Amino acid sequence: MKIDAALLASNNRHKKIEIAAALPGLIISLPADKGIEFDVEETGATFLDNALLKARALFAAAKTPVIADDSGLCVASLDGRPGVYSARFGFDLPAPPADDAERNAYLLSLLPRGRRHEAFFVCAMVLLLSEYRFFAAQETVEGLIVHEPRGSSGFGYDPVFFVPEKGKTIAELPLEDKNSFSHRGRAAARIRANIESL
Ligand code: IMP
Repeated sequence: MKIDAALLASNNRHKKIEIAAALPGLIISLPADKGIEFDVEETGATFLDNALLKARALFAAAKTPVIADDSGLCVASLDGRPGVYSARFGFDLPAPPADDAERNAYLLSLLPRGRRHEAFFVCAMVLLLSEYRFFAAQETVEGLIVHEPRGSSGFGYDPVFFVPEKGKTIAELPLEDKNSFSHRGRAAARIRANIESL
């Protein structure tokens, strides 16, 4: 069985761009591109639970191969937070962060300056081919949180995530570079190997 297209169980266009670049030969569409409304509550305790939950929800609606990605940032000095709650970080505040820049500011407000803040991104990715058939991969990338956001590419926490080997934040790197080492790029490479083995 060869597949040449898949729906991505997300409304995040940045994820679509990154995953499509990492999976050449596969046409990736968002539910919105196909007129499908997609809004799933991420109730899982782990990244993999949430990736499967999203994949299964979209497969039930679309009955076509689905890719799902659940990802997030884990900061050591915050005991791994925001973790699976990365997208909703600060939603319990009286004035929740309205966008990525405010979420980054909130994150930085929790981290004392002058200390080293180790962190890693996680990406669980699932390719669901039918109700009971899927491939899954989970990858990470390690780095440091920096107090001065830098760069404008990517999304989310990229401007505050510094990659020591590159000497830059992820937001200062072009997409091809990000995909070559990122949590998502590496998970997608494993999914790609699975697709090629079909
Ligand atoms: P979800 O996978 O849709 O639950 O959202 C993951 C959240 O984690 C995003 O909204 C971002 O805040 C953060 N995140 C995940 N991957 C990345 C990344 O590659 N760069 C920056 N932030 C990310």
